[in-house]
Amino acid sequence: MYQSPRKKRRRDAALDVIASHAGIVIILGFFIGMCVWAGTYVKSVVEQTEQNHTIFLDLQPRYGYAAMQDMQRLIMITQRALEAGEMTPELKKEFADAADFMYVRADTFRRMVKLERIQISSGLASIAALDSIVKIADDAISQDFPDNRKLLASLLFADTEATGNVVQFLDKMRVQAESALKTQSNALHDQKAVVFWLLLGLTLVASIAMFLLRFEVIARHAREAAEERVRFLAYFDPLTGLPNRTQFQDRLAETLQHDSPLALVYIDLDEFKLINDTYGHLAGDAVLCHVGRILSTIADKDSGFSARLGGDEFALVVMNDDINGLSSLCTRIIAKIAEPFVFEGDIFKVGVSIGLATTTQVASRATITMDMMSRVTDFALYTSKANGRKCFTVYDHVIEQLFWERRELLEELPHAIEQGDLEVYLQPKVSLPNRKVYGFEALVRWRRSGQLVLPSDFIKIAEDSGLIVDIDRFVLVSSTQLISNWNAEHGTDFSLSVNLSALHFSSSQIENQVEQALWDAAMPPRLLTLEITETSEMRDWKQASEILAEMKGLGCKISIDDFGTGFSSLAYLRTMKAQELKIDRSLVNELAASHQARLLLNSVLDIARHLELEVVIEGIETDEQAEIVCAMGGTCAQGFLFGRPLPPAEALANAMTAQEPLKSVRAS
Ligand code: C2E
Ligand code: MG
Ligand code: MG
Repeated sequence: MYQSPRKKRRRDAALDVIASHAGIVIILGFFIGMCVWAGTYVKSVVEQTEQNHTIFLDLQPRYGYAAMQDMQRLIMITQRALEAGEMTPELKKEFADAADFMYVRADTFRRMVKLERIQISSGLASIAALDSIVKIADDAISQDFPDNRKLLASLLFADTEATGNVVQFLDKMRVQAESALKTQSNALHDQKAVVFWLLLGLTLVASIAMFLLRFEVIARHAREAAEERVRFLAYFDPLTGLPNRTQFQDRLAETLQHDSPLALVYIDLDEFKLINDTYGHLAGDAVLCHVGRILSTIADKDSGFSARLGGDEFALVVMNDDINGLSSLCTRIIAKIAEPFVFEGDIFKVGVSIGLATTTQVASRATITMDMMSRVTDFALYTSKANGRKCFTVYDHVIEQLFWERRELLEELPHAIEQGDLEVYLQPKVSLPNRKVYGFEALVRWRRSGQLVLPSDFIKIAEDSGLIVDIDRFVLVSSTQLISNWNAEHGTDFSLSVNLSALHFSSSQIENQVEQALWDAAMPPRLLTLEITETSEMRDWKQASEILAEMKGLGCKISIDDFGTGFSSLAYLRTMKAQELKIDRSLVNELAASHQARLLLNSVLDIARHLELEVVIEGIETDEQAEIVCAMGGTCAQGFLFGRPLPPAEALANAMTAQEPLKSVRAS
């Protein structure tokens, strides 16, 4: 049956009240009260009836015997008159009084008998007998007692008659009354039981009804709670309590319709997987809740709204398009989230990448839609990630352009690996001061539609997508073959340096791959150096150093690349137990101009000497730099001054022709 929601709500509210504890107590209390009242009432009726009968039983004999006493009085007065010889005036008066009493008693007795509707012959006979006595007395009084002897005889006769009848009647009445009383009492007792059981039954039925009602109300509450939960899950993220993607998209689409300027901010946690993998999912959940709380507080302050879009992605809408203000908001978010956060004794410092776009920036395009805002904010977010994370990017057209280029590269890169569009270039490593080439670093190049793409344009993409593993394998296999073949053919002993991404160090496969490559190329392991750059991905130093130790066990050298570029640290030096340190060109650039740079390089060389590390100084472009490095005691170098990265044949040929001493080689 259809019920309007309002009616249903009212009915549910009424049932809630009835089925509440108070409701149940009141209703059952009412029924129990009814039982008690009925029991007391029936009991009082029984008692009343019994009392009435007692009175009745008392009254009947009283009136009957009183009438007989009056009769006796009349007889006695008449006897006294006979003894006195006449009915003296006093006796007459006495007789008349007694006759009056007799009349009254006889009348009362008659009425009582009639009232009780007793059709017992002795009753009627008693009435007749009493009436006849009254008549005898009345006649005597009216005739002024003509014959007292006759009067006495008549009275005695009537008395005998009346006494017999009255006594008989009263006996019968008593018997009858007693049996009637018994029957009535039994009936009342039965009724009491019936009423008691009836009410008890009603109470039971009411209790069952209340129980079922309560059961139904509890079931309805559970149903409503489940429905509420389903509604919550459809629109909220159960972990952080923030709105979920669906609700966020609905609200964003609705807000965009109002045409007020707003900014969409996407926030993505950096290295969240690492937290989950290292500290467990509970820690991961705690971090997400921590970030959720910060964002919702910020959203509340800026009268916007926040959401968890899924995984480690959050979003924020702020009703404002002032880029300066928004930039400082992003800085604040990054700083606030980066504040150390403690969970179960572990301290977390969470980094986030942020992408930001305002409606004003995209307003020049047709209508602003939720999808469009989301897409441009995504570009900004990707840019932040590509720029090394822990930063924010405000959307602009250049970013979008770069995004599409990046996307294209990412789509094409797997095919490039399959189709053999990757090439290995070699850059010489020289010993100082004679500048003799003793080895090469293998550097990958991508020949894309005839153009040479440098690693800076695709290595990061390859690392993010995991394709770097295939690229490194390709470079390792082809460069070991190249150098080994060259050495074999030309009797040289060139060494080879190969770059390995930190991503390899999450599995021990790389060790087998290196071993296999050396074996296939028949290259002595001592000629192979593996260059590793410390990156944020390489957090599991223990595992990385174990893998590196095994590779060292093969006989290869381990080199720490790009030392001095932020990630590489002294702690890293100790853990990795490398044999070579490659000093980044950022330190070399300033050598000629900066005294501090020279001091720094000197100190690094000193440390390396103490740690017994070979040092290769990268990025030497000028003779002046080469001389400074030489003067400081640098023994190995790499840089455009000695040779740019070139196709292998060219690089090797150059190395062969310019052995003694090597002059500046200008690459094409
Ligand atoms: P890297 O391993 O430090 O390699 C040296 C980079 O410095 C090379 O850039 C080289 O061309 C450049 N370079 C050398 N001398 C000079 C100089 O005097 N001046 C200037 N301005 N640059 C110089 P490239 O080939 O573009 O490679 C860049 C980075 O890409 C490499 O830095 C390395 O980290 C990465 N990379 C290159 N090939 C591979 C590879 O096969 N696997 C991996 N995982 N990374 C690679
Ligand atoms: Mg390198
Ligand atoms: Mg380097």
